Amino acid sequence: MTHVSVDAERCVGHGRCYTLAPDVFDADEVGHSIVRIAEVSGELARQAVAGAENCPEQAITLSR
Ligand code: SF4
Repeated sequence: MTHVSVDAERCVGHGRCYTLAPDVFDADEVGHSIVRIAEVSGELARQAVAGAENCPEQAITLSR
């Protein structure tokens, strides 16, 4: 399993993560990212990687 976290201090709300990985990330009321599912594997892990790789702020951390 891969653990997903978002650093709220870094996230500025581009929305790339929840556009690319809508099953893993969601938007709060101001468009910042929130984690829907913190422990992912398989297809959800692939979505999480896509989100992390496309975050311009390096706000997403994936750890095992
Ligand atoms: S892509 Fe990065 S900066 Fe943009 S909403 Fe997601 S976590 Fe925040």
